[in-house]
Order: sequence, then structure tokens, then C-alpha cells
Amino acid sequence: MSSTLAVRVNPPSGNEVSARFSVGKKSFTVRTSANVSLASGATPWLAPGLLAAMRQNAALDIDGPLDSVALTGAEEVQRIMSDWYPAQMHATAILQQETTNETLAGGRGVGCFFSGGVDSFYSTVKHIDEITHLIFIHGFDIPLDNEDLAERTLRTLRKAAEDLGKPLIEVRTNLRQVHALLGLDWESHSHGSLLAHVALLLTDHIGKLYLPSNRIEGELEPYATHPDLDKHWGSRGLEIEHDGNEANRPMKVAAFADSEPAMNNLRVCWWNKDNDYNCGHCEKCIRTMMNIKIAGAEGKCATLPADIPYDVYNRMYINKPGKHGAVENLKAMDDFGYRDAEMERALRDAIDRPTWQNQIFHARQLAGLAPQFAGRLSLENGHRAAVTKVDG
Ligand SMILES: [Zn+2]
Repeated sequence: MSSTLAVRVNPPSGNEVSARFSVGKKSFTVRTSANVSLASGATPWLAPGLLAAMRQNAALDIDGPLDSVALTGAEEVQRIMSDWYPAQMHATAILQQETTNETLAGGRGVGCFFSGGVDSFYSTVKHIDEITHLIFIHGFDIPLDNEDLAERTLRTLRKAAEDLGKPLIEVRTNLRQVHALLGLDWESHSHGSLLAHVALLLTDHIGKLYLPSNRIEGELEPYATHPDLDKHWGSRGLEIEHDGNEANRPMKVAAFADSEPAMNNLRVCWWNKDNDYNCGHCEKCIRTMMNIKIAGAEGKCATLPADIPYDVYNRMYINKPGKHGAVENLKAMDDFGYRDAEMERALRDAIDRPTWQNQIFHARQLAGLAPQFAGRLSLENGHRAAVTKVDG
């Protein structure tokens, strides 16, 4: 290790904070803003700076004292990440060792990240009496320059938050793009540190944060959010808790099936151009419609049709999460004692679909025969395109 990754934190401007990440000849500014006040100081930049330094095999130099608990946690994160990804994530030195033991006021709230999907509704409904704030991040799933999709999503999330009786904190950040430019993989390395960055910026408002999980215990593997990892991103003023590993998707749907705010606002589809909710015929929608039937909640969800379009599903490209979802639903049919010959046949067929046939379905979808997938593709490309637009 010979180089240094410097993180220079700029003075805050209103509800926007920013910092310049520089390593070698590369230099990018990360900007994060919100509809509430954000914490100043260096600590919220430790998580994203640490991972960038590890990926670049550079020492980390942050200009400002760091929270003592966060600094200790960063050492644990380094140990875990370098163990999981030895070729990509290198143990590094944190040059800034000056710590702050600033005490934050007690009685602050409890936050939960909230996208309106199965995982976030599960954790929100489970901790409804404790949670005081829901948090949405534009720049996480939705590319920063897709203002139209962000606005439509926010409309539905504001309504969901209102129905749940909780304020919605709305955050915007280009950190995902900067991390991509610094070589970090979003799924494996990066997204948990973005969540930690946002959580640590919100310590004026919250003292605890629930981070909804998307894996059941037993299926956990190295991933950017993980129960072993996320707890180390906290600080003296903020506890971070990875939540929901005890349940898979059908179990989660069953758990919130009687919550009207959840069943009236559930949003799992990110590429519906026609209205603010779900398209009802992409893999994610169909997977969730099956979850709902298996969980015995048929007819309770206002935002997804009850009738599963098997003609679409049986000729659909099944990607890796889709295949995982099919295996999960097949197992859940057994666990819940749900019998449905047509669903079982469709799931078995999706799981066993020969690669050549899956590839043909994929090629057809890419050729534009199924417009909903063109939307999905442009969503993914949006992130890639946006990467080139970060200021240099
Ligand atoms: Zn859909």
C-alpha cells in the first residue's frame, strides 16, 4: 500500500453535506442532501471512505476527528470485508485516529429504511410502536437523474408513510456513482456503507436505525448488508440493527397481511411506466403475487392483481433472484400447506428451465417484445450512464 485516499469534508450548506474523495489522479465530490437537517463532521464519511480506500488498496485519510465507536467498528468491518473478498478488499490504515466522544441528546427517534417493498414493510410493521421516522434514499435503487421515477415513487411512499403515521425523511445522494467510479461493486461491497452514511447523517433525529434484511438466516452469504457487518457501522450516538433475517418473503407477507397501510401501498415494481404502483406482470410482481396467495392473503393487497398471469411467467426469462424466488415460493407452498397445481407446475418449470430456453426468453425480452423489461433495462443502464456524469 503506497497511495492514500483522501476524504476532504466541505462545510455544510443548508441541508446538503459534501466531501471530496481523491486517490491518485481521480477526484470526485459526493453530495448528500435531505428534507431535514444533516449532521456535520467526518464520522458519516468513514463508512464510504473506508470501503473506497480498501478497494483502492490505499490508506484512508479523513480530515476530522472520528467517533470512537465508529472507528473501532471500522476495524471490524475491515476484518470482515478483507476476509470475504481477499482479492478486492484490502486491509488498510486509517490515518486519522483523533477521536471525538461527543455525547448526543437522549430521546432521539428510531428510523427504518423504507422503499415500500416487502422487506421494509415487514420491519416497519414489526417495530411500528418504536419507529418514529421512515427514510427513503433517491440514488439507491433509482438512478439520480431519473427524476420522474423518483417523484412517482415518492408520491406513493409519502402516502404509505402518512397511512403508517410516520414522517418520511427524503434523502438524495450520488455516493453510489462515486463508489462505482472507485471500483466498488454495489451489491457485494458498497450499498451497506451508503446506508450507514445516510444513517450517521441523521443523528439529529434518530438514535437507532433498523436496516431491513432481504435474506433469511441460513441463506446468508457475503453481501454488502449483513447482520455481522451492519452493527459495526454505528457510533456512540447511533445503533444500527440489521432486521428481519428470521423470515423469508412469504413469511414476511403473512406477517403484515393484516396491516392496511402495508396492503394498500405495497410497491415491489420499479419499472412500471403506466401508473404509480405495480405492473402485475414482471417477475418481481408475479413472485410477490405468489407470496401473497401462499401466505393466505389473497385479495388483501390493493396494489397487485390477484390473478397470476401464468402465460407470461411460463415464457419469462428467470434471472438469479427470480430463480431464488421460485425456489423460495415452492418451499413456502410446502411450509404453509398451500396446494395449487398450476403454481407448483409453473415454479418447477421456472427452476428447471434449460439454460438455452432461458436465453431465448432473455433475447426476446431484450428485443423489446415485453416492454416492462425494457423499462427495467433502462433503469439499470441509468445507473451506469449516471456514473459518467459525476464531476471529476
Ligand atoms: Zn412489475
